[in-house]
Amino acid sequence: MCPWGSAVEDPAYYALLSGGARYYAHLVAMLAEDGESDLGYAKVGGLYVPGTADELDATERRARARAAEAPEAGSIERVSAADARKLFPPLRPDQPGLFISGGARVDGRRVAAAMQRAAAKRGARLVTGSAELMMRGGRVAGVVVNGETIEADTVVVAAGAWAPKLLEPAGVPLGVAPQRGQIIHLRSPGTDTAHWPILMPLSSHYLLAFEDSRVVVGASRETGAGFDYRFTAAGVAEVLNAALDVASVFARSPMIYALNLAARPASTISLSVTVSARAGCRWVPTAARCSRTWRLARRRHSISHPTPSNNNTHRQH
Ligand SMILES: Cc1cc2nc3c(=O)[nH]c(=O)nc-3n(C[C@H](O)[C@H](O)[C@H](O)COP(=O)(O)OP(=O)(O)OC[C@H]3O[C@@H](n4cnc5c(N)ncnc54)[C@H](O)[C@@H]3O)c2cc1C
Repeated sequence: MCPWGSAVEDPAYYALLSGGARYYAHLVAMLAEDGESDLGYAKVGGLYVPGTADELDATERRARARAAEAPEAGSIERVSAADARKLFPPLRPDQPGLFISGGARVDGRRVAAAMQRAAAKRGARLVTGSAELMMRGGRVAGVVVNGETIEADTVVVAAGAWAPKLLEPAGVPLGVAPQRGQIIHLRSPGTDTAHWPILMPLSSHYLLAFEDSRVVVGASRETGAGFDYRFTAAGVAEVLNAALDVASVFARSPMIYALNLAARPASTISLSVTVSARAGCRWVPTAARCSRTWRLARRRHSISHPTPSNNNTHRQH
């Protein structure tokens, strides 16, 4: 999470990214109240390392302008190549950067698990299984999981790339399709990586480190791969090359610790969409800039207009 210097121009999309970064501190504090701190979350800062001096200047201008409205961005500092390497030692020696202290990283799996535990502590009942919408009189009236019918006033569909299938019975068209992503975890045995910042070359790739001497490099974006969970030579090569481009020292990295691959819910329009389907099939595409979905939605359903606080449309990372 370090949106302030990003090259994103769409104001709605940037508002989502910065809103998320702002909200995270609250989320972490709320989870702590429930005794949940195993999130892989750390405010390690973000280090932008774009390829050219012009891009670095532009990144700094953007970051300073945006940070004026976002105190959570923290301090912004132009760093020399030598200082950048002190922050992220594997960085190539000729690469200056822009360090933003408010940047943070988190482990999505750990935070998701923590949220489930916290919800359970507060009385939520967790049901594991494949859910289907339960329709009554042409309206969404609940879900069926493992043969159990659960009636509900509101059904929130958060099924990622599988959401279109789940929403079919409600006749809700959703411009979302799976996009394969391949990630590589590099091990740097004996190295204290816990405080390394997120490294952002300003391409679609990124490097981030975790506590266990591990650097994660992500990610390929493979539209059209569907739910095919096979690693490909091209995907692995793309991600490794992105890492070596900014941190050639990884060419001597002793081993690839792990490979991860998943299907992200990518938009078939310009942004990804998360839709909450309310009982009565009154559904709310919470995108501020999702015109095609809006038009489809207007034809088929009554629409509640989104408010800035419930925007949850997002481009994939
Ligand atoms: C390789 C890769 C790297 C990524 N890196 C980043 C990153 O660095 N930062 C970032 O912010 N994002 C990243 N993303 C994107 C991030 O993973 C997605 O944005 C996020 O996971 C989307 O969350 P979601 O809850 O919408 O969907 P998902 O995380 O896909 O969750 C959907 C869940 O719904 C479940 N489900 C589906 N259908 C049903 C059903 N019928 N019944 C019950 N359950 C169902 C699925 O099993 C799944 O667990 C990455 C994605 C990929 C693929």
